[in-house]
Amino acid sequence: MNRPTNAFVLIRITPLLLIWLFLISAPRASAANWTVRAQPARLVNGAPVLFKVRPPVRLASLSGSWLGHEIPFSFDPKTKTWFALAGASLETGPGTYALDLAGESAAGKSPGTKISSSRRFAVARGKYPKIKVALSVEGKFTEPNPEQQKQIEEGQQIKKDYLNRVTPDREWSGSFSAPAEAGISDVFGSERIFNGKTSSPHQGLDFRVPSGTPVAAMNDGTVLLARPLYFEGNFVVIDHGQGLLTLYLHLSEFKVKEGDQVKRGQIIGLSGGTGRATGPHLHVAVRWQGTYLDPAALIRLQLP
Ligand SMILES: [Zn+2]
Repeated sequence: MNRPTNAFVLIRITPLLLIWLFLISAPRASAANWTVRAQPARLVNGAPVLFKVRPPVRLASLSGSWLGHEIPFSFDPKTKTWFALAGASLETGPGTYALDLAGESAAGKSPGTKISSSRRFAVARGKYPKIKVALSVEGKFTEPNPEQQKQIEEGQQIKKDYLNRVTPDREWSGSFSAPAEAGISDVFGSERIFNGKTSSPHQGLDFRVPSGTPVAAMNDGTVLLARPLYFEGNFVVIDHGQGLLTLYLHLSEFKVKEGDQVKRGQIIGLSGGTGRATGPHLHVAVRWQGTYLDPAALIRLQLP
């Protein structure tokens, strides 16, 4: 006889039935839980991170607090998750740090109810190279005269005024792309020595490009700065919103002006060797709420 008996069917479905009964009768554990994830899963100092949050109830808004920064979350309807881009500065020591979340429930039974949660994430020490090569830079950059000193101070003031800005609306969308298709001549975080003097860690990513190579915007945004500065040379800064800026240095030519809206991949200038540069190359930097992050790590992130 090939047909299963009723008893046999019952034996086979009983475990499934029990699991199902357990799931519907268990206290609403899943409803009270937040899912909070980080990409990449391993955080290091100097690198950006994408936080993804699934709250237990439908929310109208969500914000977070991380390493002293306020981070606004956006909702992705495709995956029904809230996301925010953040980072840990190079100076962040290894340890675990709290991401505090505060949300407000959406319209429904009890709209406007405040709910909160907190998760801790480990930040490990990133591996950054030490390059003990004396680079020859013109004397004017290490021992400036009074006129040069004045230009340096003007540049410092402009950077102080612009590079810590946090505009509320997010303009970036999707992953960041490389500004040029070229080899890397120096990575983020490396320590360099100028004329025998050790400088602070390299705050950007250098692309090996000849002068005149088109330089593309890494994501959508608004041109915050497009002007020459003493060290940076011809300098473009794009504001992607919520405190995320990308910086493009040593350009030979501008293709945008301050206030322009740009799209990812749009040509914003041509590479060069203006400012403090040993030769033509493209230095790009990523600034998030007043701290520099690794551009290569930002490009690697899969963003909604
Ligand atoms: Zn550089």
